[in-house]
Amino acid sequence: MISATNISKSFETPGETVDVLKDLSLDLADGEAASIIGPSGSGKTTLLNLIGALDRPSSGSIWIGNQDIATLTADEATRFRNHSLGFVFQQHYLLPQLSVLENVLVPRLAGDWKEPAEETEQRARELLAKVGLDHRLKHLPWQLSGGEKLRTAVARALINQPSLVLADEPTGSLDPSSTDTIADLLLDLNRDQKVTLLVVTHNQALAKRIGKTFELRDGKLWSAVAK
Ligand code: ADP
Repeated sequence: MISATNISKSFETPGETVDVLKDLSLDLADGEAASIIGPSGSGKTTLLNLIGALDRPSSGSIWIGNQDIATLTADEATRFRNHSLGFVFQQHYLLPQLSVLENVLVPRLAGDWKEPAEETEQRARELLAKVGLDHRLKHLPWQLSGGEKLRTAVARALINQPSLVLADEPTGSLDPSSTDTIADLLLDLNRDQKVTLLVVTHNQALAKRIGKTFELRDGKLWSAVAK
């Protein structure tokens, strides 16, 4: 599913080049789940952004299915994200003027969304029930707690029934019970629908539940054991 080979990523800043990822490789089979841990600033978000076609590596290839994500045009990258990918961002990026339900339905606005509106809406309601927000459908983002915003963002990431889910600290600001809800949802998807899952987390318990763990350190991924 994911075969990233010799990825390097550097950022040019005034007066300095920051080498974040250095010849990093990662292989994840279809339906596999893995977590990435590592110190703040080690490059975890940078790596997720590359795999999610939000940014390009300075060098290296990232094969996902039959396409090299590193070489997609902007249109192809958008199509890949709309149809194959669920991305849970650390800063959830909910649209402030839209309700919870409407935010989850935003991906439907992509021009080539094929499914009838009622079916998508039905699934949005089911997803929101699964994340425990069926009583918050009409709330606007400012009326939600941090955890509810994040859970809305998780539901939105899953509305296109992705085969790959990338999640950047999906339980970052959540209390233990909400953390379990999100962890259950992601792990059920992985187990029941064979969704490939790659989760950046500081939460050792979540990493342990996911099973396979890598640590990002010195620009590379190392096999690790969650404690
Ligand atoms: P992590 O997710 O592990 O906390 P990040 O991937 O966010 O780490 O950042 C890794 C390093 O790359 C940091 O030192 C950060 O300052 C730097 N970095 C990230 N994005 C940029 C950018 N657009 N321009 C310059 N430096 C960046």
